[in-house]
Order: sequence, then structure tokens, then C-alpha cells
Amino acid sequence: MDNRKKIYFMKKKSEECYKLCTPCYLIDKDQFLSNLFIIRNNFQKEWGKNVLLGYSIKTNHQSILMQLARREGMVAEAVSDDEYDYAIKLGYDKKQIIFNGPQKSSQYLIHALNNNSIVNIDNLEEINIIEQHYNEITQLHPRIGLRVNFDLESICEGETTAGLLGSRFGLNVENGEFETAINKLLDLRMKIKGIHLHYSTKTRSLKVFEKLAEKACDVSRKFNLISDIQYIDIGGGFWGGRVLEGKPLMEEYSKIISEVLKRYFDPKNVMIILEPGAALLATAISYYSKIKNIRKVKDVIYLTSDGSLLHINPFFIQREVDYKVYASGENRILKQIICGATCLEKDRIVCLENERELKIGDYIQINHVGAYTMGFNNCFINCPPYIYLKENKEIVLIRGKNRHLLFDI
Ligand SMILES: *Cc1c(COP(=O)(O)O)cnc(C)c1O
Repeated sequence: MDNRKKIYFMKKKSEECYKLCTPCYLIDKDQFLSNLFIIRNNFQKEWGKNVLLGYSIKTNHQSILMQLARREGMVAEAVSDDEYDYAIKLGYDKKQIIFNGPQKSSQYLIHALNNNSIVNIDNLEEINIIEQHYNEITQLHPRIGLRVNFDLESICEGETTAGLLGSRFGLNVENGEFETAINKLLDLRMKIKGIHLHYSTKTRSLKVFEKLAEKACDVSRKFNLISDIQYIDIGGGFWGGRVLEGKPLMEEYSKIISEVLKRYFDPKNVMIILEPGAALLATAISYYSKIKNIRKVKDVIYLTSDGSLLHINPFFIQREVDYKVYASGENRILKQIICGATCLEKDRIVCLENERELKIGDYIQINHVGAYTMGFNNCFINCPPYIYLKENKEIVLIRGKNRHLLFDI
């Protein structure tokens, strides 16, 4: 091992950091908690105490994070029967689970209603299930909400992920499905306690959330729900964790959402529920990989690392990478492309322009990889990355030893 490299890396990071096995994720507990507090404090400042945060399990199901979230008073937001079970296994009370998503089984749906989970109905089939299993519902006042599907794209042009086709989640307002769901539940003498809105957008803009809050008011008023409503679940989709010019701050989200909802709802009686995924998790985790070999093709230096783009951007979405290099070379190189260890031609992690020369054994750190990455880890060519937890300046390995068992042999 070249000592010079070691010292260089130590100069930049703590000694423990140098000892990391690569490729690995490093979970920063303080950053995670700070993200959580910023979200909650800002909403409580505008709305008061009646704010509940749901941990979006699918965004990152690392048990350590879910347990931290629970200890800090978050509930779990599950979008499948399996996630529902997983939350229980990690110590969440059934009352502390928000059950969302388009694929609830009838067994879990009824179970969740009976055990006082918050259940947000996604489609008419779920209403049918409730009708068919009505005599099995023992809970007198189930916490039931309806997920709203409406034409957000028409008022926030170019902003939604689904675009002109429209979102495929929730009960559509314009075609009457939302109203049908209400009427069927009312026929069963079941009150609608919540409105759920979650939209995936490219912009995560304030306008999107203003329109979501307005829609919550709109449907509640139009369908006479205001007196029964106990929660408005505005979903996730926030930008957060990293301050970037042009991107909203949590303070701004909380202001606009609270301001709109206050027109119809009293913060004393109605709870705001938030389900932040990326805003809570993205900046809490970084990724490290090490250079294994170097070659030159045409005018480009290709560096193969022990990591993979699959670990940090599993859908290979075109986007800028926030990185930091620990280069031992002094010279600046026009174009160095850091590639992954797999045999995929597209496994190119980042293109460095005019950066210092990286040498074999040097590290690269990729920031903000905590959301929608680790959940997709698999055993394609390599075992999944190691995972470390940074806690009070100490770094502990939490996945590593038995990585090879994940090959399932
Ligand atoms: C995925 C998801 C979230 C989290 O979304 P982010 O965009 O990561 O904040 C919240 N609620 C529901 C219903 C989801 O499906």
C-alpha cells in the first residue's frame, strides 16, 4: 500500500474513513436527523404540533434508518403488504403505519383498518374489498383516507413525471371515481377521515404543493368532507436536504401548504401528514469506490473503479453527480471517466473534467445517494456494497461480513 495516498486521504477525511472497504455506502446519522428536524420544525412552526411524518420505506429500507425514524417519532409509510410486515418487525405499532399504494391485498387492507393504521384508498377495487368484507370490519372508526388523482399537469405544465398521460395512482376526480368512492363508503356508514395526495414531479416546485393543498381543500368542500377530515396527507416529492439555488426550502413548502390549508382546516383539529422520501434520505448517504485500473482510449482516460453506477443511480437517469475526488496525482487531466466494475458499457459513474489525476487506489466519493439506490442493490456481477454508519464521529460496519451470502447459495 502506498503510504502517500493514505496520508492524502487522511488529510481530507478522518482516519476511519480511509479504512472503509469499498465499494460502500456511508450513512451519516447526524445528517439524517438534521433533515428530519428541518422538515418537522418548519411544518410545526407554521401549523403547530399537529404534524406527522411518515417514513417512506421504499425510499430506503435500511433497518437502522427506520429504527432511528421511529425513535424520533416518525410513523412508517408502507406501500405493500411486505413493507407493512417489515415495519411491524422493526417495532412500529400498527397505529404507527400509513398504508398506501396500489396493491394492498384484501387481507392486509382489512387488517390495517381493524388495527387503526392510516389507510389511504388508492383505487375502486379497494372499495369493493371493503364492501365484500364489511362484516369483518370490527373497528368502529377506521382511519380511512382517499388518494386524489387529478389533472395536475394541466395547471403545472411540464412539471409532473407522468406528464400529459396523467398519473396512474389514486381515484380520479374529473371522471367521477373519487365521488363514487365517497358515496360507496358513505353507504357503508364509513367516514372519510383523510385526503391523500402524492405526486411525483420533475420540479418539486412550490406551485405543485400549492396546487395539491388547494385540491385538498377543493375536494373536501365540494364533497362535504370538511367536518369529518382529520388529516391531510400531502405525500412526498419535496426537494430537500441540500440547499440549491432555484430549489425550494422546507420553510417555503411549509408556509405555502399551511397557508392554503388554513383557509378550510383548523390546525387544532386537522393533522398535516408528510411522507418525505428523497428530502429526508438523499443527502444522508454518500458512496465510496476505489480505482482499480486505468487505461487511455483516444483522448480519454478511463478509470475502472470497484463500484458501479447501479449502486447510485440504478435507472441510469441523466443527471449531474455531486462528487469529491481524493486524487494523489498533482496534474490536471482534461477528461477522466470513472467507470464501474461491471461489464456494462454504460456503467460510467462520472466524467471528471479538468480534475486532478487519479491513480490506482485513489478514492472517489459520490454524495447524496440515500434515496432509491440501496433498495435496488442486487448481486449482478458483484455482491452489494458494504454499508457503514457514521455516528458520533465513529464509523461502524453494518453490512459487509456476510455479503457473499446474498448470492443465495
Ligand atoms: C414514493 C412515495 C413517497 C416518497 O416520495 P419522495 O418523492 O421520495 O419524497 C411518499 N408517498 C408515497 C405514496 C410514495 O409512493
